[in-house]
Amino acid sequence: MTTQPIYNFCAGPATLPREVMEATAEACRQLEGTGLSLMETSHRSPVFQSVLDETRQLLRQLLHIPADYTILLLGGGASMEFCRIPANLLRHRAAYINTGVWASKAQHEARHWGEVVEIASTERENYDHVPTHIDAPHDVDYVHYTSNNTIYGTEFLREPAVDAPLVSDMSSDILSRPIRVERHWAIYGGAQKNLSMAGLSFVILSPEALAATPRPLPSILDYRIHRDHDGLFHTPPVVPIYCAHEMLRWIQSQGGVSAMERMAVERSSMLYEVLDESRLFRGMARPDSRSRMNICFRVDAERLGDETKAAALEAEFIDYCAERGVVGIKGHRLVGGLRASCYNGMPLRGAERLAECLREFESEQIRRGRL
Ligand code: PMP
Repeated sequence: MTTQPIYNFCAGPATLPREVMEATAEACRQLEGTGLSLMETSHRSPVFQSVLDETRQLLRQLLHIPADYTILLLGGGASMEFCRIPANLLRHRAAYINTGVWASKAQHEARHWGEVVEIASTERENYDHVPTHIDAPHDVDYVHYTSNNTIYGTEFLREPAVDAPLVSDMSSDILSRPIRVERHWAIYGGAQKNLSMAGLSFVILSPEALAATPRPLPSILDYRIHRDHDGLFHTPPVVPIYCAHEMLRWIQSQGGVSAMERMAVERSSMLYEVLDESRLFRGMARPDSRSRMNICFRVDAERLGDETKAAALEAEFIDYCAERGVVGIKGHRLVGGLRASCYNGMPLRGAERLAECLREFESEQIRRGRL
């Protein structure tokens, strides 16, 4: 019996290259000849210290993070940073751009720490694009944007053109394209899509962001305390950090961030092309804002003239794909439809397999006189 490969398009936790998952699993069995599992190894041991140092070094190198920026790898995920970012950076007033549920959650959390202005929103258009013309008041501490909107499949492929310092949630597109780190006060996110497994946040902070203390904070919330303890203020998530280390080495071996970008362009343009040619499916995001990471689409109910039939075909397509090794394509519960998440770990062959499923399912519907 031959087993077919499985391609996991889940939005996060998400697929990682097989060798990254295997190296992490092996370290959990035995860490680099120590006879101990990674899980029972002290975070203060020399062996773990060198993993941590190398992980930060690789991240700095791959993203061209300036030498005076601080890199923190902490427990908590992006939602924890929704709180820590304004706690540390919001002095008087911060501006937030609302491009979806995660962006609006980030904004909501910031309101606990000071005045927040929403300077742009695409909520009225069901978040189908990212705004291009954004006016930020001159007196804000920072402008916050969500570089990739995981649920809606939209992405800022360039940072918003504003004068204020930028802060970005890059949970779902970090390391998928080069970024201008020096334009940002802070870049942060949960690691469980493009970088590692769940349980880890990455936070990249400029010296200016850390310069002034806006308020006394509990230690666990204070980035300066984490920096002053060299990231070991308390026990960090050691397994996700090890996994990030392996993923960064893998990215480097593939040719770095520009190679990740080439693959992301190839995967996403292949899928958008099929959707644009389709009589059955259509992409959900406005073409000028399409994400390379999350390709959101649905059965075109308008063209079909029947909502119920469209929903039934979507359910049928999910099963059709699963039988062919393509899993995790159900859309987020808030928007419905279908979503193919193609992070760094998704091989080109996975996107090709999904493209074949899209074409073949449509041909089958035509053959059966259902279109
Ligand atoms: N921001 C974005 C853009 C996300 O996609 C997610 C998770 N899907 C989050 C924040 C929340 O991340 P976490 O679950 O790590 O808190």
